[in-house]
Order: sequence, then C-alpha cells, then structure tokens
Amino acid sequence: MKRSKVLLLIATSLAIVILLGTYLTVFRKRYSGSPPSMITPYVSASDIASINEAYSASDNAPWGFVHKGIDFFPTDNYKSFRAVFSGVIKEIKLRQGAQISNSKVDVTLEFDSSFSAVYYFEFFSQDTADGQIQLNNILVSEGQSVSQGDVIGKLYMAGGGSHVHFSLIKDGEMICPEPYFTQEAKNSILEILHKTYPGSGMCYG
Ligand SMILES: [Zn+2]
Repeated sequence: MKRSKVLLLIATSLAIVILLGTYLTVFRKRYSGSPPSMITPYVSASDIASINEAYSASDNAPWGFVHKGIDFFPTDNYKSFRAVFSGVIKEIKLRQGAQISNSKVDVTLEFDSSFSAVYYFEFFSQDTADGQIQLNNILVSEGQSVSQGDVIGKLYMAGGGSHVHFSLIKDGEMICPEPYFTQEAKNSILEILHKTYPGSGMCYG
C-alpha cells in the first residue's frame, strides 16, 4: 500500500472513532437514565421568605392537602429562579382567565426522555397587563438549551399569595424531588421549610 493511502486510512479510522465517541457521549447523557442532580430552584436562600407547602401525595402532611411540588414564597418582587439541571425549555405557557384561580406562567424544563421540571410563576392577578409583565420576566424561550444554574425567570408578585411552584416529573408523574437534590440543596430547602414546619420532611406519601 502507498504511504498516502495508509495515512488516509488512519485519518478516516480516527475520524470514525471520534464521531462515534461524541455520538455515544451525547446519547448516553440523554437516554442512559442517569438521574438528575438538582441544585435549588432559587438563586439565593435569602430571597425566600417561606415554603408554605412541600410535596404530599395525600392529605397526610403538615400543610394538610395533596400538593405534588414545593411552593417558594419570595421575600420581595422580581426574585430570580434558575434551572435545577441542564436541559431544554420545552414549553412556556401563560394561564390566566376566569376559570383559573391562581394565574401563572408555566415553564417546563426537560432533562432527558424521562425527567423534566416544571416551574409555575404564580403571580395571582386576573389583570392581563400583569400576565404580560410576568411573561416578560421569563428570561428563556421555548426550544432554548439552558445550563444548570441559568436564570429562568423572575417572579412578578402582582397579588397576595404570589409564589413559584416547583415540581419534578418522572415519566409523566410528579414525584418526590428530595432524592434528586444535591445534599447542599436539600439542606437549604429543609432549613427554609423548617421555619414554617419545624422538623417536617420534604415529602409525604
Ligand atoms: Zn404549589
């Protein structure tokens, strides 16, 4: 074989190995089922006044009703909430109207084919102008890839009771998020929760 042919063969083989390696890395990341390791949805613990409800699949919880997520009540207007993991923004939807008691903007962040997170920016106002203000304070767009920690949006506290609801979804079910938080995130969330419910757990069956 000619020297030039040998070199071409080596170069082609190398290119195939590199392409295959890249493909497998990306594929494994999206479909291996390796679970997310989540940071807190809030940027700073000092931004959160209280957690009034955490996760409960029944009424048997300190807050007394079924609630398949965690409600973060900020200390002040326009506090930032961030991506708990890297992923893709799948949907941003304003829900407002007579039939919806707590107006909100829903943001869905997809981790992989199994896990996603939803944030409800619940601004508690029926005024359509307030809906636009909350929508304008969502700082990502549909289809956008975000990195863990990127700010998703700020909560516009138009009415009393405004908060951000966070849920972790696995295969279409809102599940207890606790095992998927880093130890640091878990400690931070429990510390805030314990201000309202001393000794409480994050999740109830
Ligand atoms: Zn909630």
